[in-house]
Amino acid sequence: MQSAYLSQGWAHDARVTVSPTGIITSIETGADASASASTGASVSASATASASVGARQGASAGLPHGAPMEPVLGLVIPGMSNAHSHAFQRAMAGNAEFRSSARDSFWNWRQNMYVLANRIGPEALRIVATQLFVEMLKAGYTSVAEFHYLHRPGSGAPYAGANPLWEAIDEAAATAGIGLTFLPTLYQTSDFGGAALKPEQARFALQTDAFVRAVEERVGAERRNGVSTRRTGAAFHSLRAVPLDQLREAAVALRAIDANLPVHIHVAEQALEVSACQRATGRRPVQLLLEQELLTRHWCLVHATHATAQELQGIAGSHAAVCVSISTEANLGDGLFDTTRFLKAGGRLCIGSDSQSTVNPAEELRWLEYQQRLRKKRRVVLAAKDESHVGTRLWRDAALCGAQVMGQPGGAIAVGHRADWLVLDASHPAMAGAAPEQAFDRLLFAGADKAIRDVMVAGRWVVKDHRHAGEQQLQADFSRAMRDLSKG
Ligand SMILES: [Zn+2]
Repeated sequence: MQSAYLSQGWAHDARVTVSPTGIITSIETGADASASASTGASVSASATASASVGARQGASAGLPHGAPMEPVLGLVIPGMSNAHSHAFQRAMAGNAEFRSSARDSFWNWRQNMYVLANRIGPEALRIVATQLFVEMLKAGYTSVAEFHYLHRPGSGAPYAGANPLWEAIDEAAATAGIGLTFLPTLYQTSDFGGAALKPEQARFALQTDAFVRAVEERVGAERRNGVSTRRTGAAFHSLRAVPLDQLREAAVALRAIDANLPVHIHVAEQALEVSACQRATGRRPVQLLLEQELLTRHWCLVHATHATAQELQGIAGSHAAVCVSISTEANLGDGLFDTTRFLKAGGRLCIGSDSQSTVNPAEELRWLEYQQRLRKKRRVVLAAKDESHVGTRLWRDAALCGAQVMGQPGGAIAVGHRADWLVLDASHPAMAGAAPEQAFDRLLFAGADKAIRDVMVAGRWVVKDHRHAGEQQLQADFSRAMRDLSKG
């Protein structure tokens, strides 16, 4: 590799070896690399790879054994982890940006979202999700956590046997070539206090025992098959959608299945949700969650927008992560997460594309920083003691934290991690004159997301020269699916 951002910082002329399953097995840098690699800077497939992992500039499917490796020209950085996504909402992006009442809010947006949720079937979902996952890859996300609560065909009985709405997501991720953490999501009530689901929420219904059993089956199958890009976790939609006794029972059962299982939950996104929780329980949602003493480093609290200073301290102390999606939180008028305070408390933070109004990690991270600049009337607010470049700090930490809470082995270019990385074209105008140390700053603050030229997941190139192999066919399918969905 010409220049690569490794876990210890930028390195030049690195030689990286990747196993047949896409895991990095060795990294040599500088003098070590030039002594052992006659071709100089390169990415090498392991000698044990069945047909090599295709980790060669210009190769899309793989190399025959013994073929010489070409150097990866450009700046190689870790792929970003997308820790929160609802794939079906891609079909709604840009379609709710008109005034429909004097007080448009999250809550009437949600009614529109339910209309779409009740219209989409497995085939349309597969196409929409595949399109979305290709867009994610091209923007720099190499894995995604799909927080999935579309469970039933309609208001009637659940599917018998395999769930085609779940399989649609699995297939979409496999077709696109993105790492997937699938989070079947428990959804049982329409509000705090056990209020019954509304008719428009009927498709989301899932019983606790069926939920735990389904997670257990998927985890068992993954252990047997050992697919390195796929992982199952679990999610609770929110405290208003899952009664506390059910949440506790399920959390304990999930921990028995896998002590490292990723567990995600939406919490304190909206001010109304906080007041409803207080009325029903006498507690604020984050406070209520902290009191259960269930949180571990495998938990991810999505949004936590309306957490108090004390609650932020509590989350940081629990080692659970927070996932923010600034683009969605802005689009829905949620409010501002206090990133500065949370990071100061030692909190772990990752990002997600959530409602898909923006599918661009550079933009998410740019606005994470800009929110703080606007609030504090200062610059370079989220740089760290160990990293003065704010772009580097935000990308590095979000990629790694996201991978950890998704149970994915990506997030860094290091031995034992999966070979999920992006190549920035150093000759792109947005990168002109940039030293490697400025690459992430250019990515976040100067439009260098357009310089993401190649994308690798698990040792395979999934985007080459800005193109995904399936995108042309996909475009036609996606246009047709969107036309059908708009007809209702
Ligand atoms: Zn969400």
